[in-house]
Amino acid sequence: MERTFCMIKPDGVQRGLVGEIISRFERAGLKLVGLKMVHPTREMVKSHYPSTDSWLTIVGEKTLNSYAELGLDPKTHLGTTSALEIGKIVKGWLMDFISSGPVICMVWEGNHAIQNVRRLVGNTLPISANPGTIRGDFACDSPDLANEKCRPIRNLIHASGDSEEARYEITLWFKEEELYIYQRADESIILG
Ligand code: ADP
Repeated sequence: MERTFCMIKPDGVQRGLVGEIISRFERAGLKLVGLKMVHPTREMVKSHYPSTDSWLTIVGEKTLNSYAELGLDPKTHLGTTSALEIGKIVKGWLMDFISSGPVICMVWEGNHAIQNVRRLVGNTLPISANPGTIRGDFACDSPDLANEKCRPIRNLIHASGDSEEARYEITLWFKEEELYIYQRADESIILG
């Protein structure tokens, strides 16, 4: 069994999508083992997203790729073509946005929980997220629009990307005693 961390960002809370999002994970057979509403500080968000050059560069490279796909010049929107610098800009926007209102923090447990939650969440860019996913069904943002407005992409939700991230994020947002052990009534059917 795996545990993964998920956060409904301020846009998901403000659009009234909390119940809808939770029910999608529940109906897939994942077990909710931790849940709370938090208004994060900028510092909490800073700790949540990595500050390593490698993570910032990956975020920047993904941004550069989407600009190339859209045939747009990143320098016009972001003032630079350096992946690292773009990553730093995006992280600053994330710190401002996620600390701007309450969010819902959750820990989900289940078979391949990390991969299954990411599958239900969909692609980072709503414009590329498949219908049927949370981001594909409820968002339509794109990097060019977001960056023109100097804000992060409104994609409703964060979910841990791998087991190392999940371990780190669960410990950052939850105390051990805030995570619960219980049995779902349908567990034997879902898990065999
Ligand atoms: P994910 O949230 O799918 O794991 P990343 O870790 O790559 O995606 O990025 C973290 C968050 O940064 C994204 O969810 C999104 O809100 C924001 N973001 C990523 N790329 C951009 C971008 N080019 N412009 C604005 N915001 C972005």
